[in-house]
Amino acid sequence: MLACELALAGVRPTVLETRTEPGTEPRANGLVGQVVRMLDRRGLYERLSGTPGPPQPTPRFVFGALPLDLTQVDDNPLYLLPVPQARLVEVLLERADELGVAVRWGHTLTGLTQDADAVTATVTGPDGPYALEARYLVGADGGGSVTRKLAGIGFPGVTTDRSVSRTANVTVPASWMDPATGGLDVPGYGPVPAFLHHRTEHGLFVFAPFPGRPQAVTTVEWDEMPDDVPMTLDEMRASASRVLGTDVPLGPPDGPGPHLLRRLRGGNSRMAERFRDGRVFLLGDAAHVHSAIGGPGLNLGLQDAVNLGWKLAADLAGRAPAGLLDTYETERRPAGSRVLVHTQAQSTLIAPGSDVTALRELFAELLADPGTAAHIAGLMAGADLRYDMKIPATHPLIGRWAPDLLLDTATGPVRLAELTRTARPLLIDLTPEGALAALRWPDEVDVVAARPADAEVPATALLLRPDTYVAWATGAAHPSKADLSAALQAQFGARMQSEGAR
Ligand SMILES: Cc1cc2nc3c(=O)[nH]c(=O)nc-3n(C[C@H](O)[C@H](O)[C@H](O)COP(=O)(O)OP(=O)(O)OC[C@H]3O[C@@H](n4cnc5c(N)ncnc54)[C@H](O)[C@@H]3O)c2cc1C
Repeated sequence: MLACELALAGVRPTVLETRTEPGTEPRANGLVGQVVRMLDRRGLYERLSGTPGPPQPTPRFVFGALPLDLTQVDDNPLYLLPVPQARLVEVLLERADELGVAVRWGHTLTGLTQDADAVTATVTGPDGPYALEARYLVGADGGGSVTRKLAGIGFPGVTTDRSVSRTANVTVPASWMDPATGGLDVPGYGPVPAFLHHRTEHGLFVFAPFPGRPQAVTTVEWDEMPDDVPMTLDEMRASASRVLGTDVPLGPPDGPGPHLLRRLRGGNSRMAERFRDGRVFLLGDAAHVHSAIGGPGLNLGLQDAVNLGWKLAADLAGRAPAGLLDTYETERRPAGSRVLVHTQAQSTLIAPGSDVTALRELFAELLADPGTAAHIAGLMAGADLRYDMKIPATHPLIGRWAPDLLLDTATGPVRLAELTRTARPLLIDLTPEGALAALRWPDEVDVVAARPADAEVPATALLLRPDTYVAWATGAAHPSKADLSAALQAQFGARMQSEGAR
């Protein structure tokens, strides 16, 4: 994702990947949160979803295995895209290839040094070790990040070992399938919803009947010490039976493999001490690891990439304002912290015990309130962030994720998400006379004069960063050019060419 962002901005990155080809092991089953809209804003949503049209928010989700009803939430920010991680990687690779990005498969970073001007990476490739010099190096190399270790960046946090999670591809008895809900009706237990986390007094159970793929079952149990032997289907059956308190005769999966049979112990909640060391940056799991509950990892990591990409490109082009690169950490560390907060809170809410049951009862009451549901939805979507745009102007949209807009332009109606695919700064002029669009703009800013097509927009002009956060907005009928100039300078190091008309 970062390589694609850089390539869009005219930079030629090199990707080093220790694997010799994309991995096939199952990881994420989907994307959750604002990243779904971000992918739409880069023209990748339809490729991934396989359906035409923009993403729609989900009417319901779960928080700590408690139902989250979002039908009452105005401007619901929670979007889902149920694609396996392997498909996401495939689409990003296609995209990188279209943009001319070089991916070096089978090349492993083993060392790095840096000085004021460059980073020198030591890399081991198929033909042996070599040195590679670059202006910057970004470690997007996962939770065990070699980059982080080589840069001497600590990774404080907690590791827990009380829980054991098991996942397997299975078949459940056909008579248990409830055609009305798509979930299960388990004899001796009762209904179990499809896909949603389901807590019992003995653990957590998830039934995932993915269309076109083998069914999958996941359990989480606490204070149970499995032997250090390869996981088996019998072990999965025994665990499911313990969690539901009744016999669960899971069968082997249908169809060709490879089939999933995975046991994971405990979990980590950790964040890098700093996201930058000179010319070296960390993003994604290299910068933060957390429980996979609620599926926040890709939302967080891919948006790290979109935050960093345009800033690095501006710096490489010599036009970044002072301190721009440091805003990567000041903006994205809070995003990581929020994920650590909600994944740890959710992990607590799914644990067994009567004290947790009491906590859940209270939490369920709170979640029934639309205001609380909206708060949690914003948290899980990563939509509750407001970045400091470092300008004196005030408007409620400044620093926020730009709202989805449908605009009438001289060339017809267009969605905001269709205007942001080039990843360039974008000025949307909604003033009646298009007065701002008529000014002489620096080359790096795209300018669109438009009218709102479907709904009231609480602004007469918006300046968006390439990550589609609002750098500046105003509701004034005659916007202040001085304010606009300040925002251009603060984010893009750019100035209006002159005050005259084009
Ligand atoms: C079981 C499971 C389920 C999950 N479910 C979800 C979910 O539903 N939704 C969600 O959003 N997230 C989920 N996640 C989290 C998600 O998979 C991660 O957050 C995401 O993969 C992080 O991406 P990344 O690029 O930062 O790191 P990674 O995906 O770990 O990629 C790092 C890459 O760096 C390469 N590399 C490592 N060291 C080197 C080196 N020295 N030199 C060169 N290359 C190197 C690795 O080979 C790897 O390809 C899940 C994770 C797991 C384990």
